[in-house]
Amino acid sequence: MKRTHHCAQLTKANLHATVSLAGWVDSVRDHGGIIFVDLRDRQGVTQVKFDSALREQAAKLKDESVIGIRGQVEPRPADMVNKNLPTGEIEVDATELEVYNISDTPPFPLTDAGGDKVNEDLRLTYRYLDLRRPKMRKNLAVRHRATKSVRDYFDAQGFYEVETPALFKSTPEGAREYLVPSRIHPGQFYALSQSPQQFKQILMVAGVEKYFQIARCFRDEDLRADRQMEFTQIDVEVSFIDREGVYALFEGMLKKVWKDVLDHDLPTPFPRLAYKDAMNRYGVDKPDTRFGLELVDFSDTFRQSGFKVFQSTVAAHGSVKAFNAKGLADVTQGEITALEEIAKSLGAKGLAYIKVEQGEWKSPIVKFFSESEKAALTEKLGIADGDLVFFAAAPWERACAILGRIRLEAAQLLAKRGKLSLPANQWNFLWVVDFPLMSYDEERKGYVATHHPFTAPVAEDIALLDSDPKAVRGQHYDVVLNGMELGGGSIRIHQPVLQKKVFEEVLKIPADVVESRFGYLLKAFTYGAPPHGGIAFGLDRMVALLCGTTSIRDVIAFPKTQKAQDLMAQSPTPVTAKQLKELHIQTVIPPA
Ligand code: ASP
Repeated sequence: MKRTHHCAQLTKANLHATVSLAGWVDSVRDHGGIIFVDLRDRQGVTQVKFDSALREQAAKLKDESVIGIRGQVEPRPADMVNKNLPTGEIEVDATELEVYNISDTPPFPLTDAGGDKVNEDLRLTYRYLDLRRPKMRKNLAVRHRATKSVRDYFDAQGFYEVETPALFKSTPEGAREYLVPSRIHPGQFYALSQSPQQFKQILMVAGVEKYFQIARCFRDEDLRADRQMEFTQIDVEVSFIDREGVYALFEGMLKKVWKDVLDHDLPTPFPRLAYKDAMNRYGVDKPDTRFGLELVDFSDTFRQSGFKVFQSTVAAHGSVKAFNAKGLADVTQGEITALEEIAKSLGAKGLAYIKVEQGEWKSPIVKFFSESEKAALTEKLGIADGDLVFFAAAPWERACAILGRIRLEAAQLLAKRGKLSLPANQWNFLWVVDFPLMSYDEERKGYVATHHPFTAPVAEDIALLDSDPKAVRGQHYDVVLNGMELGGGSIRIHQPVLQKKVFEEVLKIPADVVESRFGYLLKAFTYGAPPHGGIAFGLDRMVALLCGTTSIRDVIAFPKTQKAQDLMAQSPTPVTAKQLKELHIQTVIPPA
């Protein structure tokens, strides 16, 4: 029975036509001997009436069975019209029924509300049923539309989509990798590509000039709601481009996607914030700018203070910072305890705060403050009755990080009280720029690349590479939205000598290791590497935002659980001794 229409198509315009439909039984109802079936396909639902010899057979249908029908389009009686349904004015009076498959009873209701109530593990075990739910179907459609919009954009800009290998080589300085044993080369391994970074740079040397890829990346990291072992990036690299060029290119893409998918006009250009300013004002390099509660530096105010904790921090070149959680003086003791725990987990000794009630500053530390210190706080923080002021005194970066986190928590507490709104559909995109090229890693006792070792220093800072590496700014940029880092990239080093210097002299990677890991890249650069730069942007997170869901698992057809398992196909699994032998692998299982 060949389908003539889909299940959201028939209207009064089709009255009395003979049509065939196919799909799943959404529901079966018996109205005094007449059987009504809501027939569902990917597009929607059509009511089918069985009022003939087919009645008996139709009555036996179970939900989620797959059928095909032929019949005539008839108007519904006036009292049965459903205005909420595109097909709500008609029904199909069936004259033929073909049953393709009778379904067992699904383990959970396949409605949006019904599925939301059950444990996610059950949904993942029966993912093919979960994906039948309207909202999951919509998520797949949005993902398709967003990805197509991205492809159309880059195509129109003259880009080539080039696939790069998933099986790459181990370059252990990034995230932990998935290793794949080689059968042909005993004892040797491929690594699954963490990102196409090196290939896309090589493509620039190859003269491709404008590359993009909807690229799968693999990282063996602990999973969270926003992380998967394999995820998808919109990956881009361009020759002869500068930072401004990348910003404009990428803003254009996001503008198009938001228009195509949500019919929303994103204002461009996005604001830019230097890393230092982001840290100073928001305490984090991915600020949520949907609300204020900005941090203020009081190091100068407390330089000579009688309050020794603050004075000695400043004397030791640390910072005293504060922010006003405006209107949060009604904070509960339980909430304060939770905030203190968070501050401590970030290295604070405690969390100093002042509650302002009935004109009185309530806090054990206030008695140490001079009048001028109080005046400075009042003025710079706009302190008024009902406010709650938090402090951090620590080395600059830690003081920022502590208050940055407390600021986010305070915003949640204010939102819970209806005193602050954090709308999910307010799109505060921004670029964070001017990151330091290198950061000092206490554990490794050396410099590590803030972004990755291929990022170019800002030209006028190159001279500082030898004398003061931490003062060198990188040509690195991040795209941030509402407190989430969605993507990032950089203008790259294209001169082999400079790249070698960064590897060996700044990052202190031994020359033989540089040669074995990156020798091929350095060699490629000696054959005419153009200046180039690029960016990568998380597609899964972007689609989740467009769908209004917080979990990227909701926008990936077959995600892994947080325990790194595929519950449907039941993976991972042990393999046979023969397979292991072929791969020259022995396993040593730790005792339980
Ligand atoms: N490859 C980088 C990443 O995956 C992004 C880039 O620099 O283009 O984070």
